[in-house]
Amino acid sequence: MTARLPFGQVRNLLLQGHVIRRMSSQPKVYVTRPDVDDSGLELLRKSCQVNIWHETSPVPRSELIREVAGKDAIYCALTDTVNKEVLDAAGPQLKCVATISVGYDHIDVEECKKRGIRVGFTPDVLTDATAELTLALLLATNRRLFEANKQVYNGGWKSWAPMWMCGQGLKGSRVGLLGFGRIGQEIAARIVPFKPSEITYTTRSPRPEEAAAVNARHVDFDEMLRKSDFIVVCCALTPETKEIFNAAAFQKMKSNCILINTARGGVVDQKALYEALKSNRILAAGLDVTTPEPLPLDDPLLKLDNVVILPHIGSADIETRKEMSRITARNILAALAGEKMEAEVKL
Ligand code: NAP
Repeated sequence: MTARLPFGQVRNLLLQGHVIRRMSSQPKVYVTRPDVDDSGLELLRKSCQVNIWHETSPVPRSELIREVAGKDAIYCALTDTVNKEVLDAAGPQLKCVATISVGYDHIDVEECKKRGIRVGFTPDVLTDATAELTLALLLATNRRLFEANKQVYNGGWKSWAPMWMCGQGLKGSRVGLLGFGRIGQEIAARIVPFKPSEITYTTRSPRPEEAAAVNARHVDFDEMLRKSDFIVVCCALTPETKEIFNAAAFQKMKSNCILINTARGGVVDQKALYEALKSNRILAAGLDVTTPEPLPLDDPLLKLDNVVILPHIGSADIETRKEMSRITARNILAALAGEKMEAEVKL
């Protein structure tokens, strides 16, 4: 005789089976950050099985290697190095790596190309926020805002004094931009109202039309180093730009030059920068990006007054970050469906 299960139990088993079947047929996505805006994750959850690293600190390497196994897509951030090891661990079914950033120097794109893995990123949406932050950092550095602010609290403010806490204004200065892409052009547009005498830019290929809009002149790297009062780094980190600001470069710079870097820490040889700042070879630096990140509390740069350091907050504008989360999710969904992605790295 066959035992009969009560109707409720049968229904639950059927439902469970349905859910399990549905889940097993859904594409699997691993998300390396739990703290991205939920609107992006919600988009993914509608049609994917989503696993998320549970802490706000970056996922440990061993956990990442374990968790990507069998996944169809990886939703990552610039805190995750997605190299051959990770791609191997994921397996041949991996279709897409999507990063919640415009920079993709943390992803081995050549290896992705070889394997037919599509790479998504988030250009444009963060351009204005990053350009705005770059100007904020430039002004905080050249007008010594943090140094001056400290004086208010530590008793250093004795009275108004004619030459106390003076900085170097943008008006009449020569500003050089290393990189003149989306962000570089928006930075230039925001510098124009401060009335510099000239804006120059250094890229591999000149951009005459975009340059005309801000009256900028294309120069080679050497000329930019020798003539600029301000240098703003807004290029991609590549093998060619890695530590392009080295001891030799600092030697060529004017002693009143202020270096602002909102691109990637790797563009600057940080030991050489420290020496250049300490010896007053250059006047000051403003860094939103460093090597490593976070910068250890005993890093010698933190002992200098002529450097302003921010914790990589270039695109940290609420609406910008929410949309970055959604674009990353939409990139993944498009790649999984074999459709055109909203923003795909050309491999
Ligand atoms: P983009 O439009 O691709 O611009 C990159 C620029 O870098 C281009 O003008 C490119 O010009 C130039 N470049 C590349 N290699 C070069 C080289 N060897 N010498 C001189 N110039 C070179 O990118 P974007 O959207 O403006 O973003 C730029 C970078 O900013 C990103 O890659 C990212 O690392 C960084 N970023 C940082 C933050 C932050 O939070 N601090 C936020 C957003 C972006 P050519 O190709 O003509 O040489």
